[in-house]
Amino acid sequence: MFDRFRSDPEDESAARERMVDQLKPRIDRSETAEALRSVPRHVFVPESRRDSAYQDTPLPIGSGQTISAPHMVAEMTDQLALEPGAKVLEIGTGCGYHAAVTAEIVGADQVYSIEYHADLAEEARANLAECGYEDVSVRVGDGHDGWPAEAPFDAAYLTCAAPELPDSIIDQVKTGGRIAAPIGTNRQHLVVATKTSSGLDRETHGAVRFVPMKGSSAE
Ligand code: SAH
Repeated sequence: MFDRFRSDPEDESAARERMVDQLKPRIDRSETAEALRSVPRHVFVPESRRDSAYQDTPLPIGSGQTISAPHMVAEMTDQLALEPGAKVLEIGTGCGYHAAVTAEIVGADQVYSIEYHADLAEEARANLAECGYEDVSVRVGDGHDGWPAEAPFDAAYLTCAAPELPDSIIDQVKTGGRIAAPIGTNRQHLVVATKTSSGLDRETHGAVRFVPMKGSSAE
């Protein structure tokens, strides 16, 4: 008998296509659109939210955290201008969705993600494995420190808001590499920076709303 609570892959891929078609005018790079088309967001959201998985909206994922809206994942992915094979550091794995989108472009084994909450990290690993991205490396820890053992990275991004770009993240990105992060406390903006030999070229983009970064300097 047809069970309406079971996920129907055909419905979901149609819903995902519609979502990407709607977002497309705001997406610059075809790699970004293709990645969003490929990652089954419904697998990454809680069962109770699956009906909303292909709406362009943030959703709660437990531990007081949220999965970002698809347009925000798209904008950050565009801004990082990722190429296949680039080594990428993500701070804030959450449910693993954004890491999967990045993995679609650079390759799963090139994605290194740090999550503060152990239970979310565990959930993210399971979600990533379910969709074939088990080579994404997920570590529990405080992203303020970056991932020194895997540095340098070609690009890095934060999915939680910090008052300023953490120094260790800047240090761990190669010259010429890009960093995208929501920066600010009450009011946040998406900051996109390119590391140069003399410092950082910074651009401030539109207002955004992310959960605050926890840990050392931001508690
Ligand atoms: N990219 C995620 C969005 C996660 S929301 C997704 O696609 O689902 C932001 C995440 O940052 C939360 O899971 C939160 O626990 C995590 N976070 C907050 N402070 C952190 C820190 N200092 N280090 C690592 N992760 C942190």
